[in-house]
Amino acid sequence: MSALLVTSDQGHILLDGALPQSAPLIIRNIAALGFRIEDVKLIVNSHAHDDHAGGIAQLQRASGATVAASALAARALRAGLVGPDDPQYKADGPHRFPKVAQVTEVADGGVLRVGALAITAHLTPGHTTGGTTWSWQSCENGRCLDVVYADSLNAMSQDGFRFLGSATAPDRAPSFRASIDKVAALKCDVMIAVHPGFSDVMEKHAARTSGNNPFIDPGACRRYAADAHERLADRLKREAAQ
Ligand SMILES: [Zn+2]
Repeated sequence: MSALLVTSDQGHILLDGALPQSAPLIIRNIAALGFRIEDVKLIVNSHAHDDHAGGIAQLQRASGATVAASALAARALRAGLVGPDDPQYKADGPHRFPKVAQVTEVADGGVLRVGALAITAHLTPGHTTGGTTWSWQSCENGRCLDVVYADSLNAMSQDGFRFLGSATAPDRAPSFRASIDKVAALKCDVMIAVHPGFSDVMEKHAARTSGNNPFIDPGACRRYAADAHERLADRLKREAAQ
């Protein structure tokens, strides 16, 4: 599970908190990098499942940071549980996680600032109703790159859920496709997915040298989106056949 720290002289932004038991590890890693958890001023969430939001409550207590999420993700974060609108909803299922006390809501296209850092929320519903992809610019030695933290675009669900909808449930396919198109269209020099394996983070890290930075890959968002479209189309085909 990804948890990203974006740093500045006037405070840091942390993206996601992974599992509940990940919080102490994330706090230790921030210290190991030479930063202070108390200087994390903003924590944002990709989607409110236990493997990305589980550690946020503890990370908020340790840092005193503002936690921000889309309105629908904020509702789940406050409850510590996804609602029946979630494709993976189970009344007493695996998605319970520590409730986040204070959550600020951010709208689609909303920009949140910490010092010179500005991070933009792109609502990408599909995997969850409140799913959010985040983007920002990072600059080093006068060169600025657009970075995207891409939410899950996987059509995963409990048995019986239909992304195509039913007599009583809406068709989620159009908004899901629009989310995928939105990620494909983002300015994207560097993409990190909420599951590192979806953007080969460890491989890129291992291949990085002083002269070559494989993280810089302007096609990454488009490839991630193309893959998601393919998987969604397969899923919808199976649903339609049932
Ligand atoms: Zn998830």
